[in-house]
Amino acid sequence: MQTLNYSLIIIPLMKKILLVACLAAGSLYAQKSDISAKNVQKHITYLASDELKGRGTGTKEEKMSADYIAKYFKEIGLQPKGTNGYEQPFKANLDTVHVLDARNVVGFLDNGADRTIVIGAHYDHLGEGYQRGSLIPDSKGKIHNGADDNASGVAGVLELARHFAKNKVKEKHNFLFICFSAEELGLLGSKYYANNPTIDLSTVNLMLNFDMIGRFDSNKAITVGGWGTSPTWGQVIPPVLERDKMAFKIDSAGAGASDHTSFYVKKIPVLFFFTGVHGDYHKPSDDIELINFEGEAKILNSVVGIVNAVDKLPNRLEYRETAMPMARNMSFKVTMGLLLDYSFNGPGIKVDGVSKNRPGEVAGIKGGDLILRLDKYTLNTIYDYMGALGKFEKGQTVEAEVQRGADKLTLPVTFK
Ligand SMILES: [Zn+2]
Repeated sequence: MQTLNYSLIIIPLMKKILLVACLAAGSLYAQKSDISAKNVQKHITYLASDELKGRGTGTKEEKMSADYIAKYFKEIGLQPKGTNGYEQPFKANLDTVHVLDARNVVGFLDNGADRTIVIGAHYDHLGEGYQRGSLIPDSKGKIHNGADDNASGVAGVLELARHFAKNKVKEKHNFLFICFSAEELGLLGSKYYANNPTIDLSTVNLMLNFDMIGRFDSNKAITVGGWGTSPTWGQVIPPVLERDKMAFKIDSAGAGASDHTSFYVKKIPVLFFFTGVHGDYHKPSDDIELINFEGEAKILNSVVGIVNAVDKLPNRLEYRETAMPMARNMSFKVTMGLLLDYSFNGPGIKVDGVSKNRPGEVAGIKGGDLILRLDKYTLNTIYDYMGALGKFEKGQTVEAEVQRGADKLTLPVTFK
């Protein structure tokens, strides 16, 4: 009998206890959901098929996609929450001349709760390359299937809708599942919904947006955007993603180039899930064969964990305003605290919102204004604006020429 080395016994024992404790703790979160990669594959395969011709806004094929989504919402028992059944029709300006008939598709899971979680994704894409946005020179007549952008996001909405509608759990939140049209034309569908909501937006505790979650690579981190829009995200999300061994990087901005922006500007905490840009982005080669269905199911499983964790919290999430996205990667010495309309084609740049106590608001600039000139710099694109900002110093005051409706104003902007 060898002398018993207690350390040999106790330490492994302690480890085992710890492990069990972790696993037990993990089980608090480890509600292995029934998220199915097969379902995800089924949805993406149809939505990104050549038959749907890239789901261009206002096309017959985009309508077929809307019908597919509405039919699925009905099948899983969601209430219609559009203005015409599941649909919320609206007019989308392709440009200053062409107006398209578009529609958001909206379904509601009523748990009789006083707060609601919005889960959304855009279902439109670039169609056959006649609408703007393609990254290939001669795009006309080429089907831009948009398997990752954004059939993957729509599949995420449909699969989460099925999960929460069928899980026999009455969460402390209702769920609004929404697929937006005309995102590629400038977030037009989500903006329209946020300005014409079919539920009381003040009951919305958070908005989750999926845009391109189909190209998961376990060697790379997924992006979780909107991190700065609630202090709670830093507490709730890491335990779940670490449990799922999901590498992630954070982006604090609430505003960005996708639909969560429209809810962020309504002072709703948002989260944005994204597996990253790739060489097929906005090209006909963004195809089904390149989608990682299992990887997407893994992301959705983690999202279920995050939703369950938020659902257990006693209080509503606190909203936080975040820094303007562009400022992070451009060498500005000054900013104006403006939220811009990325879809506007000029002349001037269009203001969607102003951040409190920032130079823009202090100067009297309002949402809806067009800024035509800053000092001697004429503005027609967001890049003109960024170029001009790079020329100014803190403490400097310059003139902003602003078009507000029919009126032209000259406002002094002092940078601080
Ligand atoms: Zn997209």
